[in-house]
Amino acid sequence: MSQRPIYLDNHSTTAVDPRVLEAMLPYFGEYFGNPSSKTHVYGWEAAAAVEQARAEIAQILGATPAEIIFTSGATESNNLAIKGVAEAYYDRGRHFITVQTEHRAVLDPLRYLEGLGFVVTYLGVDGEGLLDPEAVARAIRPDTVLVSVMAANNEIGVLQDLAAIGAICKARGVLFHTDAAQAVGKIPLHVEAMGIDLLSFTAHKCHGPKGIGGLYVRQNQPRVKLAPQLHGGGQEQGLRSGTLYPPQIVGMAKALTLAVAQQSQEQQYIRQLRERLWLQLADLPEIYLNGHWHQRLAGNLHVSFGGIRGDTLLSALRQSLALSSGSACSSGSAQPSHVLLAIGRSPSLAAASLRFGISRFNTEWEIDRVAELVREQVHKLRTSS
Ligand SMILES: *Cc1c(COP(=O)(O)O)cnc(C)c1O
Repeated sequence: MSQRPIYLDNHSTTAVDPRVLEAMLPYFGEYFGNPSSKTHVYGWEAAAAVEQARAEIAQILGATPAEIIFTSGATESNNLAIKGVAEAYYDRGRHFITVQTEHRAVLDPLRYLEGLGFVVTYLGVDGEGLLDPEAVARAIRPDTVLVSVMAANNEIGVLQDLAAIGAICKARGVLFHTDAAQAVGKIPLHVEAMGIDLLSFTAHKCHGPKGIGGLYVRQNQPRVKLAPQLHGGGQEQGLRSGTLYPPQIVGMAKALTLAVAQQSQEQQYIRQLRERLWLQLADLPEIYLNGHWHQRLAGNLHVSFGGIRGDTLLSALRQSLALSSGSACSSGSAQPSHVLLAIGRSPSLAAASLRFGISRFNTEWEIDRVAELVREQVHKLRTSS
């Protein structure tokens, strides 16, 4: 009898919802056409499905369909937004502003630009992971072209004040990009209300398939210019060449539509599981909560344990719990998380951390079992050392 570990790594990826899979299947089968084929019904059917998905996603974000560009995921969207703006606005300025706690898919394109002579300001956050919007205002220079601030952090789940940052960028005539990979479907997002010019999203953090995402690109006030990073067949208004992938696009629209339709009830359910978990862990000695308690994703709990080695804790739990300490993308490396260092955690405390990511598929029974297993292992490791 082999029992699968309880899955609580929903910031790395999520299970595809069965309703999403069902919506995708016809586009692997009968409706297999290329949406760019204009001369027959196979192409028209695929194009109709893609355009309906585009319209649904646009509506969810408060955008128009032509402002949605499909990509392979948030990594590609961030690269297109950042490098695409850098190239298109080269003559206007070469200064970028971002935050130390961003995902590597924002930090690394910016590092790449630094190598080409661009200048990047990396703003710090407070002890709870929050960025002061006034710090953005102070960092803007005459040659600033883009501010990039993530909506929800992928490690500690904190939510930045997008509307305040967007208003500052608007007033100063600077473009505002947000990496919303962890936020779409989970918190209300509206590109007009929040003054967002570019927004990266992905399907697989929200019960959609992997390998599909998109970039919102504002077309009005201002019309954002982007230099394409993939050249070829000219799909997606020339901004992202490559044959569109209808099953994935339909699946993403279904996943986001489901998440938004049930958003407040579902997030309430998930938040209650998170609170249930924290209630059962909070009295452990030397346990530290990372990130602001209220201004965070409902499904995120991130804690550090004093006096314990992080890798020993994770491997002790591995049989029964699918968890990670932080970002899956950098979890191959033994470096302490740059996010935890940025909120002032010591390297050893940062290494002894667990990130719990709760989804609609978790149950109270699982949460109680998780709490029991974590308590047991923490106690064991502390008494053995
Ligand atoms: C997962 C994630 C990404 C990468 O998204 P992919 O679609 O896997 O490329 C980027 N940014 C954040 C904040 C993420 O959580």
